Amino acid sequence: ANMFPSVSKQFQTKVPPYAKLLTNLDKIKQITNNAPLTLAEKILYSHLCDPEESITSSDLSTVRGNKYLKLNPDRVAMQDASAQMALLQFMTTGLNQTSVPASIHCDHLIVGKDGEAKDLPSSIATNQEVFDFLESCAKRYGIQFWGPGSGIIHQIVLENFSAPGLMMLGTDSHTPNAGGLGAIAIGVGGADAVDALTGTPWELKAPKILGIKLTGKLNGWSTPKDVITKIAGLLTVRGGTGYIIEYFGEGVSTLSCTGMATICNMGAEIGATTSTFPYQEAHKRYLQATNRSEVANAADVALNEYGFLRADEGAQYEKVIEIDLSAIEPHVNGPFTPDLSTPISEYAERSLQENWPQKVSAGLIGSCTNSSYQDMSRVVDLVKQASKVGLKPRIPFFVTPGSEQIRATLERDGIIDIFQENGAKVLANACGPCIGQWNREDVSKTSKEANTIFTSFNRNFRARNDGNRNTMNFLTSPEIVTAMSYSGNAQFNPLTDSIKLPNGEDFKFKPPNGDELPKRGFEHGRDKFYPELDPKPNSNIDIEVDPKSDRLQLLDPFKAWNGKELKTNVLLKVEGKCTTDHISAAGVWLKYKGHLENISYNTLIGAQNKETGEVNKAYDLDGTEYDIPGLMMKWKSDGKPWTVVAEHNYGEGSAREHAALSPRFLGGEILLVKSFARIHETNLKKQGMLPLTFATESDYDKISSGDVLETLNLADMIAKDGNNGGEIDVKITKPNGDSFIIKAKHTMSKDQIDFFKAGSAINHIGNIRRG
Ligand code: SF4
Repeated sequence: ANMFPSVSKQFQTKVPPYAKLLTNLDKIKQITNNAPLTLAEKILYSHLCDPEESITSSDLSTVRGNKYLKLNPDRVAMQDASAQMALLQFMTTGLNQTSVPASIHCDHLIVGKDGEAKDLPSSIATNQEVFDFLESCAKRYGIQFWGPGSGIIHQIVLENFSAPGLMMLGTDSHTPNAGGLGAIAIGVGGADAVDALTGTPWELKAPKILGIKLTGKLNGWSTPKDVITKIAGLLTVRGGTGYIIEYFGEGVSTLSCTGMATICNMGAEIGATTSTFPYQEAHKRYLQATNRSEVANAADVALNEYGFLRADEGAQYEKVIEIDLSAIEPHVNGPFTPDLSTPISEYAERSLQENWPQKVSAGLIGSCTNSSYQDMSRVVDLVKQASKVGLKPRIPFFVTPGSEQIRATLERDGIIDIFQENGAKVLANACGPCIGQWNREDVSKTSKEANTIFTSFNRNFRARNDGNRNTMNFLTSPEIVTAMSYSGNAQFNPLTDSIKLPNGEDFKFKPPNGDELPKRGFEHGRDKFYPELDPKPNSNIDIEVDPKSDRLQLLDPFKAWNGKELKTNVLLKVEGKCTTDHISAAGVWLKYKGHLENISYNTLIGAQNKETGEVNKAYDLDGTEYDIPGLMMKWKSDGKPWTVVAEHNYGEGSAREHAALSPRFLGGEILLVKSFARIHETNLKKQGMLPLTFATESDYDKISSGDVLETLNLADMIAKDGNNGGEIDVKITKPNGDSFIIKAKHTMSKDQIDFFKAGSAINHIGNIRRG
């Protein structure tokens, strides 16, 4: 019997479809003879579109790390930088509306410098056409549009959409933040988002499950941030790859919902697919405080009547790590990598040993990782303590609220005033300094001199904050950032040390105190920052893209396969490591994320030519020298398709889809490498390229640029739906006419063969959906 309370219209898109999910789960329980499931498995498998096909035996270890799951996510969120390509691709399907609820968030393109009043209008002016494009797409396809200044994608998702047992995709790597409210939320590229937006099953290799058992209770200065910075130190930036991290144990019930979100957010830093928490009282309190009692009521039923939203007794994890919250010390992670973790008690000494600059030049708090009411009320407690004895921050101190709701609540409770009276600069509700949009005045972008900053953000790669490669970003809790801002010196440990006051007395901070949730509830804030709640698609809306724009360009669908063997020339033989950063550089190129032609001028500019040792150099058949994208463009206009040959783990790094889109756009047909990073290989398949690996690695040595490389039995393989042992024959012809045949392997599934035939996954989806 269905015991779920009926849901009012307002909440229909907010309550996960528990009845449907439980029906799916029942099927899996039958197939597996009631094998105990982890929470992550319950949420994932209940979103399978074909449970009987994916889960075929009671041995679940044959599924994890092995089977490809076809999933139906419940919703999609997109940020302004990545939404452009997601929506341009969605447009090419010709559909009139999205299949699942979706939202767009304008946050990454907002500069942080002087505060909202100045920064917001100037950022809107710089990015007007991008925002207009996104807004018109939202209106046309019925997507919620959260405009500039409304807040950061992950904070808004937590406040409005995340829910226990929900499964969602987001076009941003910190989408797992929503796991703090018990969801499975995964960061993806635009083409994956289009799967969900069009109701096409989204494919994911079943992750393994890493269990983290929490015991004890945080105390004093220690915060949820220190839980995850410590874990990052233990597991390193690759330790979570291929895993979902699932938290359990009695320590979980001592955390706040927003604290759990901080922990899940930075699971991205250790490479985890996502992280999640079982449904708690803290989740219920947060749902109620954010006006979602209906979600909490339904989740209560799902948990109490059906045992959903928590792991089964006896559930198996591939690995378990135990963390005693009572023993956690504040940690400081960095510089340049989020897993270089130092407990605060050792930081002073280590900073001397490592020659890190001793003067701290700025403190920045907030961002999607740490701008909860709990964070800010604890921080303001420290500010008040210091203010009482007449202290002000000694260095520039910035606060970035995560959303209009949190900002307005802080304002109502006097917290913003206290920040400002004490010299802090409160920035717009946006990413700003977390994504290189910090227009810093005290240190120039090109300064060669190292400088130290402390932030409560989540990433600290070079140039991430102020565009300066020599800024050392140390990640820590907002509390430690704040205390450090009063000393300005790396030798200061706020837990043990004092600050000298002008009157000669010593001032020592007391451990911070704050409230989990605002006593008077959350404040809504200014209406202008809120979207239409139930947007309807409207096919009369024109989506305007100026053909002269250098930021946006409509996509022409890639050409379908003509049914013939591929005949190409080898354009480049790449030597050594070739990450998505080498293939599609970021930095200044981010501006062109919505303009495939313009961003393609960065294709493989970081790659090293095996034959000459040069970076970004390739040679035409007559020996003329080009930069790599330059030769690609020439060959494209000559109608000469090409292959790039490379070595191991080609395309490691991120899910950046431009690394697959640009080569395809520039006329590439084949990538022949020793091995691929899996996500990049999938992205290539989605864009209609043919990714091949050498059956015999040493064949790499036999191929040179300029060789003709042609497939001999591709058509035959495709006629058999990819099923000819995963191998095809490739003929190499040297300029002098000598030729030989090598074997190459492919890993295309039946669906991926269809992508190749149609020219891309999006073309294929469009073909199906349009009928
Ligand atoms: Fe990404 Fe930083 Fe924005 Fe969060 S605040 S979404 S980490 S850029």
